[in-house]
Amino acid sequence: MSLRETYDPDNIFAKIIKGDIPSVTIYEDDHVLSFMDAFPQTRGHTLVIPKQAQATNLLTVEADVLSMLIQRTQTIAQAIDRALAPDGIRIAQFNGAAAGQSVFHIHFHIIPVWEGGAMKP
Ligand code: ADP
Repeated sequence: MSLRETYDPDNIFAKIIKGDIPSVTIYEDDHVLSFMDAFPQTRGHTLVIPKQAQATNLLTVEADVLSMLIQRTQTIAQAIDRALAPDGIRIAQFNGAAAGQSVFHIHFHIIPVWEGGAMKP
């Protein structure tokens, strides 16, 4: 999957938006869905995706959607900070399979981290 592939409307996150695949919702509004990562790197690892935009990655997403997405990511990261009190929060975003992207619907990772690398209980 290159950076310029067309959007596949049957990707995993599109199915989560449609409700065809279950997920644990963290936050939802008309534009954004945020849910727990099914294979969390740490406790509280959360994903944030646009609901309507059919964009595979950051290079192709419309600027206003990207602005909305990062603003929601900030709000959700603030809530995760209040809820879990991590020592740090990693925001990750991959573009293209060569960069580690495996689901081709644009998304931000919010990954709480604790000193010592522990997945805090
Ligand atoms: P990577 O797989 O290398 O982290 P991405 O940035 O494309 O690359 O991230 C996709 C994320 O989606 C992964 O963290 C993966 O654990 C997560 N994931 C895959 N399938 C599901 C699912 N059904 N529900 C929730 N998260 C999922």
